[in-house]
Amino acid sequence: MTNHLFYQSRLPRPDLQKAEGIYMWDTAGKRYIDGSSGAMVSNIGHSNPNVLAAMREQMDKSTFGYRLHFQTEPSEALAARISGLTPEGLDRVFFVSGGSEAVESALKMARQYALTQGEAQRYKVISRYPSYHGATLGALAITGYAPMSAPFDPMMKSMPKIPAPRAYLDGMDADDPATGLHYANMLEEKILEEGPSTVLAFIVEPVGGASTGALVPPAGYMQRIREICDQYGVLLIHDEVMTGGGRTGRFFGAEHWDVAPDLIALSKGFGAGYVPLGAMIARNDMVEAVLDAGGFIHGYTYAGNPLACAAGLAVLEEIERQDLVGNAAAMGDALTDRLQALMQRYPVIGDVRGKGLLLAFELMADRNTKAPLPVDLNAHSRLVDIAYENGLIIYSRRTRGGLSGDHFLVCPPMSVNEPQLDEIAEILERSMQQFMA
Ligand code: PMP
Repeated sequence: MTNHLFYQSRLPRPDLQKAEGIYMWDTAGKRYIDGSSGAMVSNIGHSNPNVLAAMREQMDKSTFGYRLHFQTEPSEALAARISGLTPEGLDRVFFVSGGSEAVESALKMARQYALTQGEAQRYKVISRYPSYHGATLGALAITGYAPMSAPFDPMMKSMPKIPAPRAYLDGMDADDPATGLHYANMLEEKILEEGPSTVLAFIVEPVGGASTGALVPPAGYMQRIREICDQYGVLLIHDEVMTGGGRTGRFFGAEHWDVAPDLIALSKGFGAGYVPLGAMIARNDMVEAVLDAGGFIHGYTYAGNPLACAAGLAVLEEIERQDLVGNAAAMGDALTDRLQALMQRYPVIGDVRGKGLLLAFELMADRNTKAPLPVDLNAHSRLVDIAYENGLIIYSRRTRGGLSGDHFLVCPPMSVNEPQLDEIAEILERSMQQFMA
């Protein structure tokens, strides 16, 4: 039979039958724990009855109204609600349908704002290596992950990168403010090298996602980055596609450092797996300047459709009603304890890191030297496959620049409870035993 559907690879996967809370079932009846919330998306758990009811209610009214023809009640209500959660002065919301679109929108808003300020020479967007900011060519140009971007290099203008602050690999103390300064100052050096008047923006994930495996910035890093951006007139973009929506134990990841960016990209946990939804959030004065100058030259057909926004609104209501942000913080601590206990028993686990329920562990050949496992061991896919067989889905991306090193994100829905964490820990233990055998 011809298989008409295709994605990245020929990897066979079972058909999904149903999903509820943190659990998913395939059509053969096998149960899985969604230990990575898909790709850190299904933050409030699957099949939440209140979200489904809100979607049904909206479906009976309208599912689509083109944004140039109509505003809709859900899109206005959602924009108002989200702006109540952002730092002051940052409350203009532009809806999109995913993370790459949110990042693209931030890049284009930054550039168009610079044009209104008479700064046409500013176009470079500095990012970090490794990083992931999306699949579209613009987002890929600022993505620091060669295996994904290299084939397309001739088709886009690859942007300057600085190293992500992986203090644990460099033998530095992440709690020492000198470490934060050391890494943040690399941005200043890069700006000076590129020529400050050519640099438009810097983009950073407050807590690293798939590419760095839940990398928490060292003390003082985020604050110093803000200072440097201010000093050189560089716009600061926070990519909160993975961190936003409460996953780190605060609604926005950057709240941990009390730093306000100029632009925010939000998605994943915003639609929480119910609808494709994202947002670019911008400083009021930037939006006013761009609209005054003739309008924002950008837009997506499905942006802000009422069904997606009604679902997004219901997701935010559930996050608040169940205090899922607080639960992410508490369950994150409880899961960290379990991962650290696992690390005690398996020396091959060289690091456990993250914030809230954005958590990861990394396998290493040597915990002291931080030497990675040999690439041909294929540890990242082997362990994921073993856990999958055992009914636990975890998320892996080979790190250290795509060359070697194996980390695994363990990020169950924010609605997870302690007995469920015990189930996750038990399957991880069993999977590690089988992996080492
Ligand atoms: N930014 C970050 C930090 C992400 O983690 C992702 C998705 N993994 C994206 C952007 C792109 O989002 P999407 O896949 O929804 O386009």
